[in-house]
Amino acid sequence: MIFSGARRLGLMGGTFNPVHLGHLRAAEELSEYLALDRVVFMPAYRPPHKPGLNLASFGRRLTMLNLAVEGQPIFAVSDLERDLPGPSYTANTLKAVNERLDPGAELFFMVGFDSFRTVGHWHGRDQLLRLASFSVFRRPGLGSELSSVGEVLRAFLGPPTEIRPDPSGRGGTLIFPNAKPIHYFADCLLEISSTDLRNRLDQGTSVRYLVPEKVRLYIAENALYHR
Ligand code: ATP
Ligand code: MG
Repeated sequence: MIFSGARRLGLMGGTFNPVHLGHLRAAEELSEYLALDRVVFMPAYRPPHKPGLNLASFGRRLTMLNLAVEGQPIFAVSDLERDLPGPSYTANTLKAVNERLDPGAELFFMVGFDSFRTVGHWHGRDQLLRLASFSVFRRPGLGSELSSVGEVLRAFLGPPTEIRPDPSGRGGTLIFPNAKPIHYFADCLLEISSTDLRNRLDQGTSVRYLVPEKVRLYIAENALYHR
């Protein structure tokens, strides 16, 4: 249901501990830029890089995402990673999602540059870029551009065979052999992080206007992220 009936489907993975307006704005902007007809947020069941660290349960992170996407009809939330064996590796997730897509549908994996720049070390690296069109967006403070995205990949894919800057000046597309087109989008601006939110909540200070109001109320009602 979540994966069928879409032609151009964006998938946004993350820990979402908790989801915030930075995630939602990035998904909104990228979905316009790529003309997606659905965006699926998929919380990691067992985040491989974040053991422990004041992690809310999968169920709670899922609930907060469901509250966050209310009212945006093209946004949806999937709990698929709960049913996949082993750590939540992106390659495993992308394989599982591909099996559930309609024939001919295109899959875009939406990821911030902070995360993408480590892709050379991800599990199943060589298949990853064939399993989805990676769609990378700028993270404030990282000074990334289309050429920085190319540099990350050059190390193991060699040079791009084609570089297509977007006429709007907001990003572009890189073509590599043995990979789906890699998109880059430079307009995401909200400098909000879940780490900062957890710190504020731990100190008992306000997170109003950084998360959707329903998420803020859910966190407060359940006293999440207080140690
Ligand atoms: P943490 O601080 O715990 O690492 P986070 O805010 O970075 O949390 P994640 O769940 O780690 O959130 O990120 C999921 C995805 O969202 C990643 O691709 C990340 O690059 C992206 N992302 C996180 N914060 C923002 C933001 N403010 N604007 C745009 N994208 C973001
Ligand atoms: Mg992060």
